[in-house]
Amino acid sequence: MRSDTVTKPTPEMRAAMANAVVGDDMNGEDPTVNRLEEMCCKLFAKEAAVYCCSGTQSNQMAVWAHCHSGDELLIEAGGHIASFEGGAPAALSGVTCRTIPGRNGLLDLADLEGKIRADNQHLARTRLVCVENTANVGGGTYYSLSALERIGRWAHANDLRVHMDGARVFNAVIASGNSPAEICEHIDSISVCFSKGLGCPMGSILIGSKDVIYRARRARKLFGGALRQAGIVAASAVYALENNVQRMQVDHDNAKLFATEVAKIPGIKLDAANVQSNLVFFEVDSQLGNAAQLSYALKQHGVLMGATGGGRLRAVTHLDVTRDDMLAAAKILGDCVKAGFSDCPGTAAGPYARG
Ligand SMILES: *Cc1c(COP(=O)(O)O)cnc(C)c1O
Repeated sequence: MRSDTVTKPTPEMRAAMANAVVGDDMNGEDPTVNRLEEMCCKLFAKEAAVYCCSGTQSNQMAVWAHCHSGDELLIEAGGHIASFEGGAPAALSGVTCRTIPGRNGLLDLADLEGKIRADNQHLARTRLVCVENTANVGGGTYYSLSALERIGRWAHANDLRVHMDGARVFNAVIASGNSPAEICEHIDSISVCFSKGLGCPMGSILIGSKDVIYRARRARKLFGGALRQAGIVAASAVYALENNVQRMQVDHDNAKLFATEVAKIPGIKLDAANVQSNLVFFEVDSQLGNAAQLSYALKQHGVLMGATGGGRLRAVTHLDVTRDDMLAAAKILGDCVKAGFSDCPGTAAGPYARG
């Protein structure tokens, strides 16, 4: 339960990969990659798409495509692009990040208003707004269509672009009931991860206008991520879009069930009503020990969950864990807390410390 990135491809997915028709994607000649890109254009109602290696890569291709060196992007304080991609906006695009505290990882128009810097040679040029949907360290929360429309209209009226880090956008689709096209109506580019809840071994895609994707393709090559017979892995994504989207409701139901059980444990703070998708964050009473120690104790009993610094842990549901696993994990967590864990050495904290 430490991440939805740990899923392994099923025999059916592997069969689709083994049978994929392939070609040289850098020449635009891989039929399976082309099919995947066309499927995503249709789903998100955009002109173009480019398949690539990872969510970090698709996000950073977008930053490079939208911005120039010396530009600044606006992002929520816990945002992945600013905090968990190795400083890539600065390293790869010469772009600085202005981080803005939101609520549960989400921004609204009021958070952004007044943040565009004046046209003045002393100042970075504000160029891009990044929204994360669902918001990871925000707790798996999703944006309302009205908030996205407010942000998009304001950004475009002010000559800014909007990029959505949609690593888990299909979780937002399932949780909100909104279609991918509705979610992205006022968004200029969106990155999607195939290697999380969709269950693929790797891969991501960036979707947007022809102009943006043309530049993003240059970035993909520049960053060393242009591909050849990538249809073998793209076939896993085609398979996932056809088979693994609707089933994410099961992951959300499992997260809710786990959260409801864990909320009953004395010494654990968790608001089950706030669990909107497949991520469950909870806090352990500091009197009992810290999150790293609890994570260690859980590991001794076969339950893997990430400590995110301080007293906070993250549990993630996905297609390789079942409802029964959730009930068992909640029971083990209750037993560990009851038995005490303050003498445990503690595992190294994961990266998702509170922003
Ligand atoms: C996982 C994730 C990414 C992509 O990370 P990779 O390590 O490149 O797979 C991007 N954004 C968010 C919000 C994520 O959770």
